[in-house]
Amino acid sequence: MERKNAWKNYDQEALNALEALSCRYRAFLDNGKTERECVKEAVALAEKNGYTNLADAVRAGRRLNPGDKVYSVCMDKSIMLFHLGAQPLEQGINIVGAHIDSPRIDIKQNPFYEDTDLAYADTHYYGGIKKYQWVARALALHGVVAKKDGTLVEIVIGENEDDPVLCVSDLLIHLAQEQMAKKAGEAVTGEGLDIILGGRPLEGEEKDAVKALMLRILSERYGIEEEDMLSAELEAVPAGKARDLGLDRSMILGYGHDDRVCAYAELEAMQLLPAVPQYTCCCLLADKEEIGSVGATGMRAHYFENAMAELVNLTCDQYSELVLRRALKNSRMLSCDVSAGYDPLYASAFEKKNAAILGRGVCYNKFTGSRGKSGSNDANAEFIGRLRRIMDDNAIAWQTAELGKVDVGGGGTIAYICALYGMEVIDSGVPVLSMHAPQEIINKADLYEAVKAYAAFLKDAK
Ligand code: MN
Ligand code: MN
Repeated sequence: MERKNAWKNYDQEALNALEALSCRYRAFLDNGKTERECVKEAVALAEKNGYTNLADAVRAGRRLNPGDKVYSVCMDKSIMLFHLGAQPLEQGINIVGAHIDSPRIDIKQNPFYEDTDLAYADTHYYGGIKKYQWVARALALHGVVAKKDGTLVEIVIGENEDDPVLCVSDLLIHLAQEQMAKKAGEAVTGEGLDIILGGRPLEGEEKDAVKALMLRILSERYGIEEEDMLSAELEAVPAGKARDLGLDRSMILGYGHDDRVCAYAELEAMQLLPAVPQYTCCCLLADKEEIGSVGATGMRAHYFENAMAELVNLTCDQYSELVLRRALKNSRMLSCDVSAGYDPLYASAFEKKNAAILGRGVCYNKFTGSRGKSGSNDANAEFIGRLRRIMDDNAIAWQTAELGKVDVGGGGTIAYICALYGMEVIDSGVPVLSMHAPQEIINKADLYEAVKAYAAFLKDAK
């Protein structure tokens, strides 16, 4: 049951389309390094494609009809796009869902200090990271500072070529005998991930003069006081753009493929739908997956259900709770999240015939979880049977996958949360190498097949 490498299927036209898509995706990665930035990108793309804000329709009590396209944003960190279909919502909708938060280093609320003529920001990392990967590399700072007067200051430092960058230092190898003998997980500590912000004292200042100059610059450039950091969300992420990888340019090296590659594939797939799809189609981009889908913008919150309720209200003559529940229960979903690609350098972590291979297309994980499938959504065989047909009828290169060997580790996605409604859900994604590293690797063919697969699913699932 070995699957063919997808590149073998492509003629010149397909190769051109694949390259154009990869180029658009790299731009999405470069412009969307935080969940907020990804929402902005998604809104711009949606509006360009004729979507309007659901909130406006709700305010106006405007009836929605088949073919209408609306989007709904939750706290600027998660977003849903809906393209209304010919069938009533009660018949269920077709959903592709991904997450747009990625592992990173967050700045603490009381971050700034000076030590021995260096100014620092104290941090608390976000999501699962190998801490040693985040030192001695150029970092950029992205995020917002909410001031007391209600204004929001947006910050991006370190992405333009003439911008300064930030960095966490590492101990020189000459003095690292003790550090090198430690376990990799302990070589760099969480509290050790403090970011260098400055190294020059403010003239005329006696105490903490380096910190004072850094604060002066923040104040002059952004109008921010030290206290404003109490209401800031600043994320340190790898600086720089995503790049083609390999002499053949077949892959992309970049920050945040997990899970922006699936998020972007969904956004592209939504553009490939007919004017009036059979069933209502939804692209759902959630926040906070990397820390357990918690909080008001994580998948466990109710924004999706609330948006569906608004849709029921605006498409039916009378709002009905029962119609809402039926709509949710009868839905079909691809929980789109990256999977671990088979890595020949770490072969012992994988069981090869059930591993996702880079370049062999979009992958489907019947289950995720760890240690006996714990915490997993386990997709129904019947649903997978229907899915196989959609994939094959649409000539998609696809493969099945499991995240590594049994009992070696595991992971979760948003699948099990949506499954609570009783809808059919399966995990689907793009295989990634070096997942959660500052720079991750995907194969362009898998992105290309994911777009086709998600479009086919949205169009044909029932
Ligand atoms: Mn993920
Ligand atoms: Mn992840």
